[in-house]
Amino acid sequence: MGLIVQKYGGSSVADTDHIKRVAERIVKRKRAGNQVVAVVSALGDSTDELIELAQQITENPPKREYDKLVSTGEQVSVSLLAMAINELGEDVISLSGSQIGIITDDLHAKAKILRVNPERLEQELDQDKIVIVAGFQGVTSDNEITTLGRGGSDTTGVALATALDADLCEIYTDVDGVYTADPRIVEGACKLNGVSYDEMLEFASLGAEVLHPRSVEIAKEYGIKLVVKSSFYCCPGTYIKEVEELEKDIVVTGVTCNSDTVKLSLIGVPDQPGVASRIFTGLAEDGINVDMIIQNVDYDGLNDITFTIGTEDLAHTKVNLKALQEELGYKELVYDTEVAKVSIVGAGMVTNPGVAAKMFEALAEEDINIEMISTSEIKVSCLIDKEKSDRAVKVIHDKFNLDQLCDSDV
Ligand code: ASP
Ligand code: MG
Repeated sequence: MGLIVQKYGGSSVADTDHIKRVAERIVKRKRAGNQVVAVVSALGDSTDELIELAQQITENPPKREYDKLVSTGEQVSVSLLAMAINELGEDVISLSGSQIGIITDDLHAKAKILRVNPERLEQELDQDKIVIVAGFQGVTSDNEITTLGRGGSDTTGVALATALDADLCEIYTDVDGVYTADPRIVEGACKLNGVSYDEMLEFASLGAEVLHPRSVEIAKEYGIKLVVKSSFYCCPGTYIKEVEELEKDIVVTGVTCNSDTVKLSLIGVPDQPGVASRIFTGLAEDGINVDMIIQNVDYDGLNDITFTIGTEDLAHTKVNLKALQEELGYKELVYDTEVAKVSIVGAGMVTNPGVAAKMFEALAEEDINIEMISTSEIKVSCLIDKEKSDRAVKVIHDKFNLDQLCDSDV
C-alpha cells in the first residue's frame, strides 16, 4: 500500500483498446489499496504526426508555437484514459501540466522543470481520486506552455514522484526493461535486473530511448526508486538504483547506438583565442546541446572545428552558424547526417585499463572506420558510418561477452 506514480508511454496508449487495458491496470492498483497518479504520453506516434504537420508549413517553427502544438497530444490521451477509468467505476480526474502547476524555465522544446506544486494533486488524491496527468509539458512563470523534449513524460513522472514523495515510480513501456543492447539489433542481448543511476544516465543520454535522461538525473538526485517495465507482459522489469558495491567486476554493462546525430564542420576558422568560445556560447544560448568536439591542427593560421549535435537541432544550428560566418570569417560549413554514435557504458571502466582499446579493436576487425571519439569515466563513444552501426553494436556486444549478463544486477 502506498503512493505510486506510473508513467505510460505512447505505445502503451496507442489506441482505445490499449487505453482500456491501461485503465484496468491502474484501477487494479487502486483497488489493491494504493493511491495512484498516472502520467501519460500522447497516443502512439501522434507527437510525430503533429511535428510532421508543422514541418509541412516551415522547417523552422517558432518554438513557442511548436510547444503549443505538440503539447496537445497529451491532452487527448489523458482525457481518453480518464473516460476509460470512469467507465470502470472509479473516481478519476485528468489534469494538464498547467492545471497542476508544473513550472518550467522558458527554454521552449527542451524546458526543464523548476518545481511542481503538489497542492492540486494532493487535494484530488485526498478525495480518493485517481489522477491522470499529461506528460511532457509544463508552463513558465509567465503562463506560457512549454514541453520537456522528446520522451519527456518520463521526467514528468519522476518529478511528480519527487513532489509527492511517492513510494515508487513505475515507467511502463513496450520493452520489459533495460537491455545490454537493443534486442532488435542483437539477438543475444540480455535484460538486466538492476542498473545504477550513473550507468542509466549514460545509457539514456546516449540515446538508448528507454528513459528520458533528465528523469534519471532527478531520480538520482532525490533517490527515487524507479522501475522500467512492460505494459504488455508481466515481468519484474529493471530497477534503477544506487550502485551497491564499490568494486565493480563487470566492466562494460551495455552498448548503445544513437543515429539521431549530425556531424558538422566549420572549415577554415581563424586560429585565434575566443573563437571557439564565440561559436559554442552562441549555440548554448540557443539551447543547442553540442556533444563531441574536435579541433584539428592549425594550417596557415586556420583550423577546422568539427562537432556533433542532435538531428532535431540541425535547422537551428545552421541558422545560428550562418549568422556568425561574417563575424568569425570561417570559410565553409559542411555537415553529414549519415553518421551514428556507438557507445559502451560501465561503471567498472574507471578502474580497468584497456577498455577503449578493446572497443576499437572490435571495430577494426570489422573494418569500421572511427570518425570521432569521446570518453567519460564510465563511457566510450565512437562516431561511425550510420550504415555500419548495427554491425558495430553486434561485434562490440560479442567482444565484451555481454550475452553473459542476463538477469544480472550491474
Ligand atoms: N509524446 C512525447 C514524445 O513522443 C513525450 C513522450 O512520449 O514522453 O516525445
Ligand atoms: Mg512518445
